[in-house]
Amino acid sequence: MGEALQPTTTMTDTSEPHVAKSGESISPIFENAIDSLRIGMDFFQRNSSYSSHKHAILTVFHAIELLLKEQLHRTNPILIYKDIDKKVTDNSFTVGLADAITRLENIGSKLPDDQKKIVEKIQSRRNRIEHHRHDYKEAEDENIIAEALKFIFYFTEFVLETRLEDHIDHALIRPMKQRVMQYNELQAVAEFRFETWATNQWPKWEKTVEDIPDEFEGTYDCPECRQSWLVIGYHPKPFCFWCNVPVDTKICENCGITYLVKTEHICPL
Ligand SMILES: [Zn+2]
Ligand SMILES: [Zn+2]
Repeated sequence: MGEALQPTTTMTDTSEPHVAKSGESISPIFENAIDSLRIGMDFFQRNSSYSSHKHAILTVFHAIELLLKEQLHRTNPILIYKDIDKKVTDNSFTVGLADAITRLENIGSKLPDDQKKIVEKIQSRRNRIEHHRHDYKEAEDENIIAEALKFIFYFTEFVLETRLEDHIDHALIRPMKQRVMQYNELQAVAEFRFETWATNQWPKWEKTVEDIPDEFEGTYDCPECRQSWLVIGYHPKPFCFWCNVPVDTKICENCGITYLVKTEHICPL
């Protein structure tokens, strides 16, 4: 078993780091997740430079990975390891984000589609940061942090059944909630803008019957905000209903990723 999973409290240890404000005991994995979340958000909120955003985002992603592992660990401690058919040692690898989600599904903890989509987005964003570069855009960073927080609030309260409020100071948690609320509001406004435009374009479209009009190929990821509200081919330039402005976008024929015309695209394929 990994050392980090063993409670370190001994008879002589008088401090009680493993107890929440509510009195419930905290596992070392969960404590580690909360710690990453606290450090990541504190960093994100205090600094807006390229480098601090990058590190803050990776730290918050790490918190998500640990929260998923906490649920696996509660089911059976062995489930946090990547290869459960080999002998587990201190050096055994643990599961990553994508595998953790699949494993949770297999044991009956299926995530709602929108939450699953957030984790997939986080996984691809992490790959972009780690293997290519962190293409710094303030709007995108704000959105990815808001999405990560949205997932964290959901997962902690409704899957792990504990409240973040019992583990994190209100001074830090209040702006975190505001980010999620603002994100939800912007999402609703973008959706309304899109629907108004699409109803105009295809007056026969009944949104209660079809998600999008039959003749419409669908929206793309906007390279500016990384939200899927970009429409290509109907306006003089591609138009993003989240940003509410035209966005000079190209699509890579090789990988299908959208990118800004003014930036260089490093194709991952
Ligand atoms: Zn956009
Ligand atoms: Zn490409």
